[in-house]
Amino acid sequence: MFHFKSGLEFALQQDKKDQLSNFRNQFHIPKDDNGNELVYMTGNSLGLQPKITKDYIDQELNDWANLGVEGHTKAKNPWTQYHNYLTETMADIVGAKPLEVVVMNSLTANLHFMMVSFYQPTPKRYKILIESDAFPSDKYAVESQLRHHGFDDKEGLILWKAPKDEELVNYEDLETILKIHGDEIALVMIGGVNYYTGQFLDLKRITSLGHSYGCKVGFDCAHGAGNVQLNLHDSGADFAVWCTYKYLNSGPGSLAGIFVHERHANNKNLNRFTGWWSHNNQTRFNMRGEFDQLAGAEGWQMSNPAILSMAAIRASLDVFKDAGFDKLCKKSQQLTGYLEFLINELKNPNIKIITPKNPEERGCQLSIQVKNADRSLQHKLLQANVITDWREPDVIRCAPTPLYNSFEDVYKMVEILKNLLDE
Ligand SMILES: *Cc1c(COP(=O)(O)O)cnc(C)c1O
Repeated sequence: MFHFKSGLEFALQQDKKDQLSNFRNQFHIPKDDNGNELVYMTGNSLGLQPKITKDYIDQELNDWANLGVEGHTKAKNPWTQYHNYLTETMADIVGAKPLEVVVMNSLTANLHFMMVSFYQPTPKRYKILIESDAFPSDKYAVESQLRHHGFDDKEGLILWKAPKDEELVNYEDLETILKIHGDEIALVMIGGVNYYTGQFLDLKRITSLGHSYGCKVGFDCAHGAGNVQLNLHDSGADFAVWCTYKYLNSGPGSLAGIFVHERHANNKNLNRFTGWWSHNNQTRFNMRGEFDQLAGAEGWQMSNPAILSMAAIRASLDVFKDAGFDKLCKKSQQLTGYLEFLINELKNPNIKIITPKNPEERGCQLSIQVKNADRSLQHKLLQANVITDWREPDVIRCAPTPLYNSFEDVYKMVEILKNLLDE
């Protein structure tokens, strides 16, 4: 595969060879008080701001200033159809057909709305299967769905756990769970890339397994979208949700995405929560008459969306389109492989990377466990101009993203970590 070498010289050479290295200049890189760029390793938490984002938002602010309500139809990018400008690129990034994708609401809200359609419990089949270290918001969401339908949120929740003293879940355990509980499980809802370990799960395998026991299967791809090739359509999943402020660089709290598989596109029997934006867009503004369901993922929209936020998403997606997502994924494997190489070179017995070693089973994030360390390590890294993310009890999450992180960033981060650990 890749051949890495130690020393700064190698990092600088890699940056020089890297055809995507110029994209870093298209982003605002946070700086310290003296104007030095920080080493930003938290694109998994909040992606950095593309410089063009401001222009995209300004366009809509200006049209709003000049046109007022007329902007809905007369803006340069008419607001009534603004979401359409995002769909194709977004579908491409998550590996879906445009019909299957729409940008709307926020992530946890979308998860709930998907469960309105795809969590239809019966007295016999009502349980929900999630991974035991699911992102807390997802766990709270599924628990509240259980309660909402009158079930006990402990008894109704089945956890896919990693084996004792291990961090990663495995498929044999999932098969066992389904063998025992398959006919009680209404919904399998899993984080596509685990936020804590960085493990990228096999969506297709999980979907086939779940479906073979008659369960619906959905994924939260917050840590996958813009990070790995999700191939959502081919996975066969019933639905997926994700946010756009992590790897998709669209700003704090920005709107989120949904995927609904093509086979459900025109299914009007699925339960759903609707609003005027789920209604046929040809007759929506007649403002009367019978509800007429829009086909595809668009039919799950409810409200007219936040245009300023969509403008930021559009800017970011245009950067992705420019770079090419395939190329980004390839660079990502190199960059993360390099981080792994340098960490392993430290030969520090207190350090363990808990993220899978196989590049196909992870994205750009490595979760680095540092025995006996505490949060002060992250603070020291911050004082040394390295922004990482700390997860209790002892894990540094570090996500070099291919759009704006350099090999030099990775080199610097590991050098600084090494010096701190040597202290
Ligand atoms: C980031 C993240 C969230 C956050 O949810 P919001 O609704 O955007 O606040 C939820 N779930 C997962 C898996 C996440 O990674």
